[in-house]
Amino acid sequence: MYFAKKGIEEPVNIIEDTTVYACESDLCNGWMREDFATADYSCPMCGNPMKQEVRGLPKIKTDYNPFSK
Ligand SMILES: [Zn+2]
Repeated sequence: MYFAKKGIEEPVNIIEDTTVYACESDLCNGWMREDFATADYSCPMCGNPMKQEVRGLPKIKTDYNPFSK
């Protein structure tokens, strides 16, 4: 688990382990959630390959529907 970051106290946020793909380049901070990863898992910022890892991230609302009123 990764709770080392300070200064971010959002009590409504639920932190959950999330599979992400992070850029392998040391010069690039690009990463994306698995759900939004590109088809070939290349970095959207620099094109380098990305490697899978697990991060603790705020849970995103999966029930969000832009078409509902
Ligand atoms: Zn990159």
